[in-house]
Amino acid sequence: MKLPKKIIIGSAIYDVEHLDVHEAIGRSISGEILYGGGKIRVGPYGDHSNVLNTLVHEILHGVYQEYGLENTEQIVQPAANGLTTIFRDNPKLLKFMIKEAKKMRKDMK
Ligand SMILES: [Zn+2]
Repeated sequence: MKLPKKIIIGSAIYDVEHLDVHEAIGRSISGEILYGGGKIRVGPYGDHSNVLNTLVHEILHGVYQEYGLENTEQIVQPAANGLTTIFRDNPKLLKFMIKEAKKMRKDMK
């Protein structure tokens, strides 16, 4: 599965990489974000919903960190689960959001 190479969250740029399967199992994690090192690491799952949820989850940790919000699993996990189901259930919404984001980038130039 090909992941995006980089994700920009506010002023932070994160390299995105796969989390080694042995490390993921050994540490019982599906992903992680390294704020100082600028990395988002996602577990090597075959299940697409897990990858999407993990990526959204780690991105939200990055957002909460970047904007100084309370950055706990109790807050991030339900928000990530909710957003993941919104992305899954609303493909037209995603297309709309991509279009609007392109307009925003164009306006910035
Ligand atoms: Zn988390």
